[in-house]
Amino acid sequence: MEHSKPSYYITTPIYYVNAKPHLGTAYSTVMADVQARFQRANAHDVKFLTGMDEHGEKVAEAAEKNGFDSPQAWCDSMEPKFRDLWETLNISNDDFIRTTQDRHTAGVQKFLQVLLDRGYIYKDSYDGWYCRPDETYFTETQVRHHEEERRAKGMDAADPEHPLCPDCDRPLERIQEESWFFKLSAFEQPLLDFYESHPDFIQPETRRNEVLSFVKGGLKDLSISRSTFDWGIQFPFDPKHVAYVWVDALINYLSAVGYGAEGQEAADEVAFRWPAQVHVVGKDIIRFHCVIWPALLMAAGLPLPERVFVHGFLTVRNEETGAAEKMSKSRGNAIAPEEVIELLGVDAYRYYFMCDVAHGTDAPISWGRMRQVYNADLANSWGNLVSRSLNMAGKYFDGCAPVRPANFEQATPLKEACEGIYERYAACMEAFDYSGAAQEVLAVVSAANHYIEDMAPWALAKDPERADELALVIWNLLEVIRIASELYAPFMPSVSAEVRRRLSLSQEATNNLAEACQWGGLAGGEPVEKGDPLFPRLVD
Ligand SMILES: [Zn+2]
Repeated sequence: MEHSKPSYYITTPIYYVNAKPHLGTAYSTVMADVQARFQRANAHDVKFLTGMDEHGEKVAEAAEKNGFDSPQAWCDSMEPKFRDLWETLNISNDDFIRTTQDRHTAGVQKFLQVLLDRGYIYKDSYDGWYCRPDETYFTETQVRHHEEERRAKGMDAADPEHPLCPDCDRPLERIQEESWFFKLSAFEQPLLDFYESHPDFIQPETRRNEVLSFVKGGLKDLSISRSTFDWGIQFPFDPKHVAYVWVDALINYLSAVGYGAEGQEAADEVAFRWPAQVHVVGKDIIRFHCVIWPALLMAAGLPLPERVFVHGFLTVRNEETGAAEKMSKSRGNAIAPEEVIELLGVDAYRYYFMCDVAHGTDAPISWGRMRQVYNADLANSWGNLVSRSLNMAGKYFDGCAPVRPANFEQATPLKEACEGIYERYAACMEAFDYSGAAQEVLAVVSAANHYIEDMAPWALAKDPERADELALVIWNLLEVIRIASELYAPFMPSVSAEVRRRLSLSQEATNNLAEACQWGGLAGGEPVEKGDPLFPRLVD
């Protein structure tokens, strides 16, 4: 199959089926959506994948606890919660994978077979500590180290029969079972070499350093099968064992692009889509994506993804003390996506979380800040520019945009502000510096609002001899609005489409953003519509 455009394959984590989607899952998903929309506008053939992680003992337990006949029925009941929120938030995913789908089972089983054939997995008996809630094994050393840390902090010693989990501090169990192991230890040096030769593989830099020091601390072989429950994907060569949920989950990125399916078409799809350009993940799952996943791919002889972008957690700014606090039900400071959508609307929701919240670190949010950003950037700047400009165009030019004047290339502050804007914006977008990208657009929008004050079109309109000047001023404003609507579209797709509609332009997002940002694109002469305010001001 021929592809006219290069592939851009972007993924979110697949979300754990036992928890409803929340502000954090929405944060990852919108972040990936903005990049997907930008890359489509940037002439790529985008595949944007999200989905659900549905296996493991805890899922089977939740199904039973909630009175479902089967774990599958429980998972099916959760699916609409995710699909509905993504639809509400205008998420443009091209695929939605569930780890209980046949295509995924086939992908995981093929992957395990390849690992076996290439000699990277072996069966051994496992004797060690197990955290049932986390479905994770820990070595004696890890457990002892954690006990020492607790003692150093002056905490009580744990029951020696049940030391505490180094990850979640819940009691561990001693278990002995047969397990399949992945030779993770063999990849310590290959991983370090890879990080060295691919300095952009893990972003931002702080996360990269965290991974480097973890790997330098030594890697142990990883137990990748479970035989104490059966809600999982069977090992094709040892059906008593099911795949460890994390190994199962990571392989979704491959099974979604045809890995494991028969035939030439699937092989072509894998070749076209893999490796992925970027996995967007939260900081809590960095080791799985930056250590285990690349090691598994090396073992299977497959190329590694180009980049893992790691975002921090959302925290809540306590508006009395100013402190950033962890969001939690017990503190009573948890915020649901629906509440924010109700206040801001979908496009402003996306704008706030993407453009005002820093993505590389933990980022505090607050209701006060949401209102402030909404009123300043959207109501007073972008919305105001659109409404004033369209109003004047309608009033002074008989309901139409002025035709592009012959002297449209004449130097004006707006033409100057738009010079090189695509390059500056695109560099920020590629780096997930969405606030940097939005600042570029806002600078042009603010320049246009100042330009209105400076040029005073209402005064020009009173003097018939200055009609050409007036036409140039209004055309300049509408041209800036056209360009800004293209640049804002990944963040606020509905508002951008509406702005283009009011300008009688195609509502489809561009697939050539560089060209769309060239000065002079607006032919004019078509009807314009002032319409209702795009962002009605929020009053306290
Ligand atoms: Zn635990």
